[in-house]
Amino acid sequence: MKVLIVEDEKRLARALDAILKEQKYLTDVVYDGKSGYDYATLARYDVVILDVMLPGMDGFEVVRRLREDKNEVPVLLLTARTATGDKVTGLNAGADDYMTKPFEPEELLARINALTRRRGAVTMDTLSFGDLVFDRNTSELSCGESSVKLNFKEAEIFKLFLRAPSVILSKDRLISDVWGDDSDAMDNNVEAYISFLRRKLKFLGSRVLIRNHQKIGYKLEDPSC
Ligand code: CA
Repeated sequence: MKVLIVEDEKRLARALDAILKEQKYLTDVVYDGKSGYDYATLARYDVVILDVMLPGMDGFEVVRRLREDKNEVPVLLLTARTATGDKVTGLNAGADDYMTKPFEPEELLARINALTRRRGAVTMDTLSFGDLVFDRNTSELSCGESSVKLNFKEAEIFKLFLRAPSVILSKDRLISDVWGDDSDAMDNNVEAYISFLRRKLKFLGSRVLIRNHQKIGYKLEDPSC
């Protein structure tokens, strides 16, 4: 279980980190909203603990942008403020739950457990981009009337693209997320799967392309946008 902590109060961030590490969670800690957004976009977390009052981009903005990117990671907002207006703003922005500081470690852990349990239920069944719709239950990718089934790795790769369509995904990132950090997959494994996916997009007659950004990685593009 991997948790991202976004909290600018360093003492609280350290305390959260310690509570979660004791429960054997893997954690990343960042101290501002922009880094929170970048981390949540570039790695897969089971939960993001997100403070509202952050330097730069605030917590509301972070969660709003994640949801705009169709990133469905469960988000638990933290704030010192008790105003119910904030709670509404946070939940409207796309947060899943809300906790007011100060809190007991037991409450934090209970909420994280509830969020990760609920995850399956709140996950959207389909992801879309351009003229494409991907069904997560059947791994079918459709464009208009045509559809094609993606195999396991193709589906894992395509979901990464669909979750963060604005992000260029490097080969290293794809290898680590799809094959795992300790696999011996190489760049040419990624290239092979990208070419399988491109063939399927062509077969579907989709206008969406997987564009190769020289030396950086791949990104979905819809030429009509
Ligand atoms: Ca703060």
